Amino acid sequence: MNSIRFESQSLIPSKVVCIGRNYVDHAKELNNEVPTSPVIFLKPNSAVSDELHAGTRETLHYEGEIALLIINGKIAGVGFGLDLTNREIQNELKNKGLPWERAKAFDRAAVFSPFVPLADPVESLRLELEINGVRVQQGGYDLMIFKPLFLLDEIGQSFTLEDGDIIMTGTPKGVGSFEKGDHFKGSLFAGDKPLLTQEWVAL
Ligand code: ZN
Repeated sequence: MNSIRFESQSLIPSKVVCIGRNYVDHAKELNNEVPTSPVIFLKPNSAVSDELHAGTRETLHYEGEIALLIINGKIAGVGFGLDLTNREIQNELKNKGLPWERAKAFDRAAVFSPFVPLADPVESLRLELEINGVRVQQGGYDLMIFKPLFLLDEIGQSFTLEDGDIIMTGTPKGVGSFEKGDHFKGSLFAGDKPLLTQEWVAL
């Protein structure tokens, strides 16, 4: 089973619960309707990775996201996540009204930095993503349609969140494709205070 790091602990997420279209500007960039209730999908443990791999056969898209680590039913930690997506397959599946797993839940489609304890108000969280030195995404709590505590409650109505499970809170605008060798730098902040920075070179 794959694990994530939280301080000195290694935790095994049973699942990653992802929120789609949680930023108005991103929903619009993909020509999606702005949802009236959260769009929820899952990635299994087998999708979890701390390495970033580019697609071998198809081009993958990155989505930088604030990732929340759940312990005892509460948000215990926060990390930088990349929700990797095979957009071409996703569009085919969406057009046919079919499930997205082949486009979203494949091996290494959920890439995470180590998690740090969340000591600051969740309202202060924001992210930035740079690729090859260019800032491509920024956003956070203020721009989310559905806020983390609401999501925790809403998800809990259908899915038991086990210790180590992760919520990916959706991506701001600026998603795009990437290739082997691209240099990613994901950062999380509480207001202006840096919480963590994680760098990956796409393999
Ligand atoms: Zn996403």
